[in-house]
This record gives sequence, C-alpha cells and structure tokens, in this order.
Amino acid sequence: MSILIVEDSDDICLIMNRHLTKIGYKNILLAASAEEAFDIIGLDKGDSGINKDVELILMDIGLPGLDGIGACKKIKSNHWYNDVPIIMVTGDTSVISLENAFKAGAIDYITKPVKMIELRARVDSALKLKNEMDRRKAREIELEALTRQLKEANRILTNLSYIDGLTGVANRRYFDDYSEQEWKKAFRGHNFISVVLVDIDFFKQLNDTEGHLYGDDCLRRVAGALSDALRRPGDFIARYGGEEFVSVLPDTTLDGAALIGETMRTNVNSLNLCFAQSKTVTVSIGIAGMIPDKSRTLQWLISEADRALYTAKKSGKNQVKVF
Ligand code: GH3
Ligand code: MG
Ligand code: MG
Ligand code: MG
Repeated sequence: MSILIVEDSDDICLIMNRHLTKIGYKNILLAASAEEAFDIIGLDKGDSGINKDVELILMDIGLPGLDGIGACKKIKSNHWYNDVPIIMVTGDTSVISLENAFKAGAIDYITKPVKMIELRARVDSALKLKNEMDRRKAREIELEALTRQLKEANRILTNLSYIDGLTGVANRRYFDDYSEQEWKKAFRGHNFISVVLVDIDFFKQLNDTEGHLYGDDCLRRVAGALSDALRRPGDFIARYGGEEFVSVLPDTTLDGAALIGETMRTNVNSLNLCFAQSKTVTVSIGIAGMIPDKSRTLQWLISEADRALYTAKKSGKNQVKVF
C-alpha cells in the first residue's frame, strides 16, 4: 500500500515525505499537479489501469492548473477511489475553502506549515477508518454470498420436501398444495378439471410372493410409466398413498382424461413386470371431472374418482372407468 502526496511546492513535499517516512510509511508517491496525480492513480486508464495500491491521498489545495478541490472531486467520482480517503493540505483555512473541500469529498484537512504530530494523527486515523470500512465491505460481500447460498439451499430443501423418496415423483404434500391451487384456478376461469386416480392391482400378492424389494422396484417403474403418459408441461403424477398414484389435469375434459388414463394403463402393461409365476403388473384407474362450482370441493371430486376406481376393481381390474 502507498500514500500519494499531491503538492506543487518541492519544499513542502520534501518535509511531508520525510515526516511520513519517519513515522514508518514507506511507499510514498509524489505528484506536483492534479494531472500528474491522475496519471499515477491511473484515473483515465479504465478499470484495469487503476492503481489500486494507493490507500490515502494528501492533497494540496493550491495547485497549478486544476486545483486540489477540482482534483478531489474528479478522483472521488471514480468508483474505486470513492473509498480512498483524501486529506487536504492547506494554508487557507477560511470557512469557504474548507467547506468546498469537504463537499468535494475530502474527509479531513491539515494546515500548513505541516507539523509531524498533526500529520501522523490525521494519516493514522484516516487509514484506520479506511481499513475498518474495507473490512466491513468484505464482510458485506461475504454475507451476500452466504445469503445467496442459503436461498439456494432452501430452494433445494423445498423441492426435496415435495418429492416422494421411493419413486422420485411428487409426493402427497405437493399434490395437496398444487391441486388445491389448480381447483381454485379452474373455479375462477370456469374451466373443466379432471382427476385421475391409479391403483396397482394385486399389489399385496406381489409383495407376498416376490418380496418388498421387488415391490419397491415395481412402484418406481410404474411411477415412471404413469409419468410418461403426461404430455403437457405442467402435468405431473404424484404418489397418493402406498400403491396409489394421482394426477390432476387442468383444462382437460373427461374424454381427454380417459385417453391419458388409457395410455397410463397400456404403459404399465408394457412394462411386463411379472409376479406370482403367471401374472404381470396392471393398474386400475378411476377418473372424475367437472367445472368447479360452489357446491363441490376438490375432495369431493377425488372421492368421485375413487368411486370410479372401485368400479374398475369390481369389474375385473386392469381397466379405466370414468365416473
Ligand atoms: P387391489 O388389486 O384390490 O388393489 O389389491 P392390492 O393388493 O393392490 O391392494 P391392498 O390395498 O390390499 O394392498 C396394497 C399393498 O401395497 C399392501 C402394501 O404392503 C403394499 N405397499 C404399500 N406401500 C408400499 C411400498 O412402499 N413398498 C412396497 N413394496 N409395498 C407397498
Ligand atoms: Mg500549492
Ligand atoms: Mg390401494
Ligand atoms: Mg392395489
């Protein structure tokens, strides 16, 4: 780090340089005019040309060409140097020139002739303040990064809490949240909404004959086959309970939902998952749909789909029934 002295008088420059060196500041840069100072700190060289080594500027007010106040203003307008303290060095302590100096962005002033004890006190405290500000700024940046990480972790956790651990499809909680929103949307827009309820046939027998591990594997494969039947971007299948799955289909009539149900059923058949020697895994599907009105709830519509599902089971399973 270095200190820049901007001073047109060689004598004063020499004295300040000597004082600072005695106090223990080693890297002192010297400029005899505002323009020289701009050149040293790289003010007109773009972001990459900026000299980031200067930590403090001691600025004479009376300079040839642009004066110290004008120079201070220009330096302070630079993004990087806005944080670098400037101390004015002046013989003119009239109220108006000090006011102008502070307005231009100086944080302090030293009167001429420069006394070592005063110079030391001002320079030390300006640098202490700058270090403190730098530390806070670094901490702020750190905190911002942490906040971003926390947000991302929260997003991942929210997603995880919506996913069924075994099958990887949406879980009951997600279905409850999402389907209620869709029901309300359909109610407001007077749109048809359908519910597709899926239950694996003879699943208890499959578990009993093939074991739970195979059962779990079948659940995963069935979940995938059901998902594959959904084509619209927002559509999804959720695990509703043990071996039951559900899908709520906005803007979908009973005919449309029946087509999707049929695709689900054939997709599962195509998996060709065998059990109990001669059987393959199949599903029964119940469908219900309506344009929501005040007299009914989504729960009611789901129970209607459940009744349709019951009919499918009663009629021999491996089929789709629309209520
Ligand atoms: P139906 O054809 O009438 O639907 O009969 P089912 O045997 O499929 O239905 P039931 O409700 O009698 O049995 C469901 C079975 O699903 C019982 C339970 O052991 C099994 N099951 C539920 N959750 C899981 C799971 O996470 N993994 C495994 N492997 N089995 C499960
Ligand atoms: Mg001067
Ligand atoms: Mg069941
Ligand atoms: Mg079942």
